[in-house]
Amino acid sequence: MTLLRVENLSASYGASQALFGVDFTLAEGEVLALMGRNGMGKTTTVKAICRMIPSQGRLEFAGQNLQLLPSFRAARLGLGLVPEGRRCFASLTVAENLIAAARPGHWTMARVTDLLPRLGERMGQRASSLSGGEQQMLAIGRALMTNPRLLILDEATEGLAPLIRAEIWATLALLKRESGMSILVIDKSLRELAQVADSAAILARGETVWTGAMEDVTPDVSEHFVGV
Ligand code: ATP
Repeated sequence: MTLLRVENLSASYGASQALFGVDFTLAEGEVLALMGRNGMGKTTTVKAICRMIPSQGRLEFAGQNLQLLPSFRAARLGLGLVPEGRRCFASLTVAENLIAAARPGHWTMARVTDLLPRLGERMGQRASSLSGGEQQMLAIGRALMTNPRLLILDEATEGLAPLIRAEIWATLALLKRESGMSILVIDKSLRELAQVADSAAILARGETVWTGAMEDVTPDVSEHFVGV
């Protein structure tokens, strides 16, 4: 079943158009990699899906027209965003950050800390005192606490040490394997994406230029469109 359908999506920042026609679909239980060089429109696409910026075109999630909804209603339909730059509540503790996001469902505090044990060890600590990697784990935990139908990760491993990056990739693989979570992931590490993603959509200058199975993202394709 198609969970997310994006068709002919366009969006602008003031007079400057950033998206010119983004198209892809994501099926329930699928992990889709949204790829492309810097500045090609990946974050803008995610912001449009989450209704954080106005856009034109078709945006359908779980059979509903997202274009008719304000961002908080879109989130309630089950869009769980792990935004670029993490954006945890710095002055709140880990536990408070998680509780603030909680909505009923499978993902409880206990299940989230089972999946992300580092958070369990730091429940009483303020988010501002966490390392970058721990803040990223918290951002993932917080998105899970909303009990999303689709988890969206925007550059979740950016700027982190190799060990933490590996932990995040292992967490995503576990989420996919154990809970069949639908995931839209933006990242620059092709090798890791290849291990977890089922399909890919590649953007260039605000347009979809390639879609297909992740296994068909050959070195030629990625060099041509993504530059790696
Ligand atoms: P990166 O990998 O560097 O994060 P991206 O593929 O996510 O890149 P976007 O951040 O979506 O790309 O940017 C798409 C285009 O929109 C770029 O030309 C960028 O300069 C422009 N843009 C992004 N955010 C804004 C903004 N707040 N105001 C004006 N232009 C913006």
